Amino acid sequence: MKTILIAGGAGFIGTNLTKRLLDEGNKVICIDNFHTGKTENIKNIPSKNYQLIKHDIINIIEIDEKIDEIYNLASPASPPHYQAAPLQTIKSNIYGVFNLLELAKKNDAKFLQTSTSEVYGEPLQHPQNESYWGNVNPNGIRSCYDESKRCSESICMNYYREFDSKVKIVRIFNTYGPFMDPKDGRVVTNFIIQALTNKNITIYGDGSQTRSFCYVDDMVEGLIKMMATDDDITGPVNLGNPGEFSILELARKVIVKTNSNSKIINCPLPHDDPTQRKPNIDLAKKILGWEPKIMLNEGLDKTIEYYKEVLKNKKNR
Ligand code: NAD
Ligand code: UDP
Repeated sequence: MKTILIAGGAGFIGTNLTKRLLDEGNKVICIDNFHTGKTENIKNIPSKNYQLIKHDIINIIEIDEKIDEIYNLASPASPPHYQAAPLQTIKSNIYGVFNLLELAKKNDAKFLQTSTSEVYGEPLQHPQNESYWGNVNPNGIRSCYDESKRCSESICMNYYREFDSKVKIVRIFNTYGPFMDPKDGRVVTNFIIQALTNKNITIYGDGSQTRSFCYVDDMVEGLIKMMATDDDITGPVNLGNPGEFSILELARKVIVKTNSNSKIINCPLPHDDPTQRKPNIDLAKKILGWEPKIMLNEGLDKTIEYYKEVLKNKKNR
């Protein structure tokens, strides 16, 4: 049985990862400041082998227990959330990463940092592979997130070079599925909730921008496989589903699948919204033997069922 710390464990990916690691017989310690995480996500997790610590990782973290692995998921990830708290986002991805790496060093623990496809910015290379350095606006409204995630990668690699820390970096591409907060603001949840409640579907811009959507179970599998690699494997490694869809295609799919009366409306496109996004996952295939198994149609069906339940439970409350 391993003792695994998940920073940001009450958020979307963190909740899914927690459930899987507990199912596999591990002890999980969750650190979360509940900035975007939800107590509802974790309230039904049995307390045996699970410990919750309410703490902001921008402050020093002291834990007496011996820790084997640390997954760092603690950062707002939805554009409206990180843009509403830009300096807190920067501190989470810089001070927070230092604090967790110090904890990892003290415990000789493995440390996995969740970086993002945002490090590629408005990519001039398509699809994006890990050797591409990206095209990022260093001071625009997305920079609090993408520049601090870029810096987090640098901090990890310098701990590896200076202290032999066991670091691993993954770059996550748009991931969706159960346990994302219905008010999170990202596109898949927005569209599904809008469609299920027969509200207008809000497409930002003309909907021709593309994204590649990965179902969360596939992502969790990729994270665990990356953590299990030998100490000389640091990444960065792209994790995502290479299936690429325009936002308009996504909206149409959700309307058909929910049999909704919602109308599509066009809203202003936010600044610096990337035009296209698609991972090259050759590296993940080669070193992790990983590739996504759940394609968008199936993943949307599962996610729609989940949000139907969420809405039903809200109504009955
Ligand atoms: P989320 O917002 O649902 O979860 C983030 C969690 O971190 C929340 O529980 C939040 O309360 C917690 N948190 C934030 N700042 C913290 C701090 N300073 N101290 C302690 N806890 C803090 O987001 P998510 O989609 O689950 O994303 C998890 C990680 O994966 C993030 O680091 C994100 O950047 C990365 N990522 C996610 C995606 C995606 O599509 N979901 C894409 C790229 C990268
Ligand atoms: N988007 C949209 N309507 C919404 C939410 C998002 O059209 O209600 C668009 C957004 O402008 C972006 C894409 O969907 O082009 C993905 O947005 P999201 O916030 O999910 O993630 P991003 O990849 O931008 O970080």
